[in-house]
Amino acid sequence: MAAVSLCKRCWKRNGIAKPAKAEVVKERDCKLCLGSFLRVADLGGKIVTAIDKVPGAETFSVGTRLTKDSERYEEGIWDMVDLAKAESVKGELNREIGKWVEKNSKYKFRLDPHVRAMIDVVTGGIETQVASVYLYGRYRKLKRNVRQTKRVDSDEKSVEAEIEAPLLRITKGQKAVLHGAGREDIDVLMAGGGRPFVMEVVRPQVRKFDARKAQLAINKSAKGIAAVEALRFCDKNRVEVIKRAKFDKTYEATVELDKPISKPDLQKLPGSVPLAQRTPLRVANRRADLIRKRTVKRLDSIWIDKSHFKLIMTTQSGTYIKEFISGDEGRTQPSVSSMLNRKAKCSDLTVTAIHSEWLEEFW
Ligand SMILES: [Zn+2]
Repeated sequence: MAAVSLCKRCWKRNGIAKPAKAEVVKERDCKLCLGSFLRVADLGGKIVTAIDKVPGAETFSVGTRLTKDSERYEEGIWDMVDLAKAESVKGELNREIGKWVEKNSKYKFRLDPHVRAMIDVVTGGIETQVASVYLYGRYRKLKRNVRQTKRVDSDEKSVEAEIEAPLLRITKGQKAVLHGAGREDIDVLMAGGGRPFVMEVVRPQVRKFDARKAQLAINKSAKGIAAVEALRFCDKNRVEVIKRAKFDKTYEATVELDKPISKPDLQKLPGSVPLAQRTPLRVANRRADLIRKRTVKRLDSIWIDKSHFKLIMTTQSGTYIKEFISGDEGRTQPSVSSMLNRKAKCSDLTVTAIHSEWLEEFW
């Protein structure tokens, strides 16, 4: 690096309290900080104006952008000094602007803020990111042929839309997105204690509201289609937890047979059974073609008439139930079809329990 000159503040930030006089320049001529610290009030004021435009915002964080040249200059300095004693110019600048904003506005600095403001020091341009509001709950789907999530350009009913509409009325948000712990097929009911989900309200204008009242509003307007329970505020990181969680599930299916069956014949089904499931034909275009090992941990049957019976089963996460019943042309081994030596078909299916108890405790 050629002869280095920095302002006093920048030398100090890099651990050098007493630089040689010849290597010191005025702040406004400093190639590292670009005189930014002389403009903290100006930059801070711009940030306050930007936060003012976000309804309901109470907390903020600051990010700054300097020039590429300044970044390169800083890297050069860091090759020369003791890194353990050095701090980046952005780190100090963000902190100084943050302090100014806290002192001169009603907004509080937070690491997980309502508004993230990113300011370009050279142009004064600001970008703001508004944090979503997140609510955890469990939903039941009370009606068949309701999708879990909305489909673009479609007015088909969905659990997501049913929960979204009242939430948008309350929060005046832009939209709301449902993040589910898995999903059931469109024709499958979700009963029992419901399926865990996180609802994300994007760009809300109201952040403080009573989650229980919101739940009442949802259950009133979604009546007969969906219902939610245990609705409460949560953090963003719960979305990932929800999406990764693997739960055993209990199902109730009505099975239809192509040949008559007697009660004693039905008793031949085992109480539990390990499966090898090759990716079902109906999802083969979306999923890798492979064989999954899953276990039906519990299997009970109740005879209805000679061609129908009820099947109650608890299975590991990721088990394809319709295919376990039909056999999916031999792709699931064994299957209800193969075990009963008849063609079996799932005529309706309900999830009666998602065994998410550990998740509730984890909250
Ligand atoms: Zn400087």
